[in-house]
Formats: sequence, C-alpha cells, structure tokens
Amino acid sequence: MDLTPLSEPHSQGQSNPNQTSHLEDVPYQVHQISASSSIRIVCISDTHCTQPSLPEGDILLHAGDLTNKGSFEEIQAQLGWLKEAPHKYKVVIAGNHDVLLDPAYVKRFPDRIYEGEGTSQTDLNWGDIIYLNRSSIKLDFPNGRSLDIYGSPLTEQFGTWAFQYPPIRDVWTNSIPKGTDILLTHGPPRGHLDLGGKGCRFLLKEIWRVRPRLVVFGHIHADHGQQAITYSSDEASYDIPMMGEIGVWATFVIRFRLASEKLSELLCWRSEASSSTTLVNAAVVGGPGNVEGRPAIVIDI
Ligand SMILES: [Zn+2]
Repeated sequence: MDLTPLSEPHSQGQSNPNQTSHLEDVPYQVHQISASSSIRIVCISDTHCTQPSLPEGDILLHAGDLTNKGSFEEIQAQLGWLKEAPHKYKVVIAGNHDVLLDPAYVKRFPDRIYEGEGTSQTDLNWGDIIYLNRSSIKLDFPNGRSLDIYGSPLTEQFGTWAFQYPPIRDVWTNSIPKGTDILLTHGPPRGHLDLGGKGCRFLLKEIWRVRPRLVVFGHIHADHGQQAITYSSDEASYDIPMMGEIGVWATFVIRFRLASEKLSELLCWRSEASSSTTLVNAAVVGGPGNVEGRPAIVIDI
C-alpha cells in the first residue's frame, strides 16, 4: 500500500497571534480508506479565525466558517493563511459565519457588513485557493488520477446568518452531479456526526443517490469525527427514517435499488460491491467558548 503523499513535505501552518496556542500542537488523525496510489486529503472546517497546524497532504479541504463575523478583514486573514499552505490544491467553501461571501445576505443587511471601498467580496485576494459555491471542480494528479469535488455552503436556517434555507425546503435533491468523488458541505447530513439529528434530511437522501467516496462537513462543532455509510440493508434501516417524510415510494425505490444491486453482485453483473461513503465532521474549534482545538482529519483515498 502506497501511502506516500504526492506532494512535497509540508511545513507547519503559520502561527497567528490571535489563536489559542494549544491548537498548534493537536496531533492529527490519519484514516486510510483506499489502497494504491492514494491521494492524501487534509480535512478542516470551522476554524473561526484560528489557524491550526496543517498536516501534509495533496488536497486541503476547508468546509466553511473560516471566520466569526465574516468581515473582509477576517476572511482575508484566513485566506492569507490558507493560500500559503503547501498543498497542491486548496479547496474552500463558505459557512454561515462567512457573511461577506453571500451577496444575498450583504444586500439584505447592508449595515451589518463592513463592506466599503476596497473591502467588498470582489476585493478579496484568493491566491490559488479554489472557492466552490454550489459548483464543482475536477482535480488532476501526477499519478494520473483525478477527483471531482462538489462544494456547497448551504445550511438550515438557525438564527440569521449567511447561505441558509428553511428546514422544510429541499435544496439538495438532484443538486449534486453524479460521479462526484468528494462532497464538501458546511452542514452534516441528518443522523451522522450531527449531534443527534441536527443535520439535513434532504442532504442525507442526496448522498444516498450520488454516493460520493468522501463527504466533508462541519457546522456542528461538538460532533468532530469520522464514520461511514455502507449502503447495506442495516444502513437503510437507520437512514431511511432519518430522511424523514420522504414517502412510501422513495422508501420503496431505495430498498428496491439495494435489493437489485445485491442480486447483481450475486450474478457477477457488477465488478465490485456497492461502495461506501466516508463521512468526516472536521470542525476544528469546539467545547465551551469554542476554545478547544480538534485535529485535522487526514483521509487517504
Ligand atoms: Zn462553526
């Protein structure tokens, strides 16, 4: 198994005079989900103006909430830190706190944003950071592999923040392209690393449709960690109720699809079993007052 990163050895992240010092020394966790020619993915989220140490890897993913108040100065400081990271690709989405990045929010609350001459969204210097907002990018690697990444900042309404939608509205169904390898969202799917059901049921249903290899999110700071969706019958028994009132027909379709896939495997119509999806809640800050630092989660894919 080749676990050698494709990129050069990395230096530690730059220190920030405002960050809590213990964040620099938190060891990171490495989880391997694939074998040869792996691509190493460093997952962080919800840094909220802190700048933790970054382990080496080929892709750095940030799942939103770079800042606390989402001002130009806060966002630019975080972009300045991220664009200096040595990873070959840096992919970032916004979170509900990164309000300057949401034109609808800026328009709705012009007096809450410190947007002025030279401090608007278009004045931000992103360097080589890839910013996704309900959009995709295909990344190519020297070993000949490529990965399709889709990113979306949307989260369910809670308070008055950016990129939010009412919980009853389905913004996810058929929104994520088939063939997406990595899904980057700010919020979790319901029932998975979401502190007992704070995630979105429509997002969970969409993950079942698309079945990306990796989903990285944050938002729910208290549920940092990793788990998997296996697309088994047992998994369906847990996840279908989590999807909520999706109807008898949708439930039938999911169970029928599982059964037909199983039959296909038995008849050798498929070269391999249905894949699983690794889920990562990569929230860096947590605990009372958000002063505890959680490690980046490193995935080899
Ligand atoms: Zn957050």
